[in-house]
Amino acid sequence: MEAAIFEGGGFCGGIRFRMHGRPVFIHACHCKDCQRRTGDAFAMNGLPENACNFA
Ligand SMILES: [Zn+2]
Repeated sequence: MEAAIFEGGGFCGGIRFRMHGRPVFIHACHCKDCQRRTGDAFAMNGLPENACNFA
């Protein structure tokens, strides 16, 4: 059975990713570092178990 493929990218279109299979976990972080990096109230972080390609 072939793993599902998930694709996405940033809103500006500057980066795209393709991930084979679901991430191990996803969480929202509200720390000050993540707020500074994203310019938002929180950042969404995911840990892929399998290959994840960025373009
Ligand atoms: Zn954080």
